[in-house]
Amino acid sequence: MKLKSLEIIGFKSFANKTKINFNNGLTEIVGPNGSGKSNVIEAIRWVLGEQSAKTLRGTKMPDIIFSGSSTHKAVNRAEVKLTLDNTDQYINSPYSEIIIARKLFRSGESQYSINNQECRLKDINNLFMDTGMGLGSFSIISQGNIEKIFNSKPEERRSIIETAAGVFKYKHQKHDANLK
Ligand code: ATP
Ligand code: MG
Repeated sequence: MKLKSLEIIGFKSFANKTKINFNNGLTEIVGPNGSGKSNVIEAIRWVLGEQSAKTLRGTKMPDIIFSGSSTHKAVNRAEVKLTLDNTDQYINSPYSEIIIARKLFRSGESQYSINNQECRLKDINNLFMDTGMGLGSFSIISQGNIEKIFNSKPEERRSIIETAAGVFKYKHQKHDANLK
């Protein structure tokens, strides 16, 4: 499973439709301060279901909608689409290509979809559960988190390693089985 492309419209500094294709190998995003590099990562976080405006450096969720600049007027809706290559069936889905999308309107109305079918946030969460890619996993590590990992106690670090290695889900299943 790998990221194929990311499409951003009206999200943070991206007023116009912007598409980033992720080719094989490593993709690096470079640019001057304030050019929107962190916004790209936040767009990925957001489409994966991020619910905290603070994590996205805002105070309320509509803050993520493009609010206007000297050249573009504000827009009423933010939309992010993330396309994943699932030919290896890493994600438990019959599709070889998975497109997850999220929209938010200034009115507060929001919408999630998987392969153009409207869905609930829960469906998106379920899709990524145990893949190591969902929110709460370590597929996205922000600057502050690196410091947190370095400074954490050995037991806390162990839990991070277990989550990253995929051991955690088995511990979780074992715990559940013992309760039955
Ligand atoms: P640095 O190198 O300093 O980390 P960066 O490339 O990561 O910079 P970002 O933090 O992604 O930059 O982008 C910041 C820019 O995004 C700021 O210019 C800010 O005004 C703009 N921005 C954030 N939210 C919005 C919004 N809702 N509408 C318009 N612009 C926004
Ligand atoms: Mg940044």
